Amino acid sequence: ESPHVSAVIEGLCATVTDYPKPGIVFQDLTPVFANGPALKQVVDAIVCAFAGKFDAVAGVEARGFLLAAAAAYATGTGVITIRKAGKLPREVLSESYSLEYGEATLELHQGDVPAGTRVLILDDVLATGGTLGAAAALLERTGAVVAGVGVVLEIDGLPGRDNLAGHEVLSLLHV
Ligand code: AMP
Repeated sequence: ESPHVSAVIEGLCATVTDYPKPGIVFQDLTPVFANGPALKQVVDAIVCAFAGKFDAVAGVEARGFLLAAAAAYATGTGVITIRKAGKLPREVLSESYSLEYGEATLELHQGDVPAGTRVLILDDVLATGGTLGAAAALLERTGAVVAGVGVVLEIDGLPGRDNLAGHEVLSLLHV
C-alpha cells in the first residue's frame, strides 16, 4: 500500500528558514514536483476531490501553473493562466492584494473564460490567502464560478481560509 499523500509531501518538502527574508519559513515543494510518483499522487488527489465539479483549471503564476497543467491534462480540461501584473498581452482584469510588505497584483485576460465556467483554482502553498483570494475574485469578475481551491500545503495559523470564505478549500498537507 502506498503512503498517504500527506506523508509523501511531508517527506519530500524542503523547509528553508529565513527565506526569502528573515522570519519566513519557506516551504519548498520543488522536490515534490520533481518526483514522478509524488507528483502523480498529488495531482490525482486534487482532481479526485473535485471530480465532476469543474470545467477548467486555473493556475496562479508560477508554481500553480505546474499543478494546473497536470490537473487539466489528467481531466481533459483547459488551463486558465492567472499571472503577475504586466505579463498578459491583451486586455486584462486586475486585482491587487496585500503582501507582508507592500502590494501585489494578479491579472487575467478578459473574455478568456466563458461565463458560468466552473473553475478549480490551484497553487502550491496557501499562506495568508491574499494570492488565492485575488485569483478567486478575478475569476468571479469575469463571470466564472469558483468550483474550489486546491493547494499542496497550507500554513496553519494564518488567515488563509478567511480570505477564501465561501469556497471549498482542499489542502493535502497542513503545517
Ligand atoms: P499568500 O498570498 O500569503 O497565501 O501566499 C501564497 C503565495 O506565496 C503562494 O503562491 C506561495 O507560493 C507563496 N508563499 C507564501 N508563503 C510561503 C511560504 N512560507 N513558503 C512557500 N511559499 C510561500
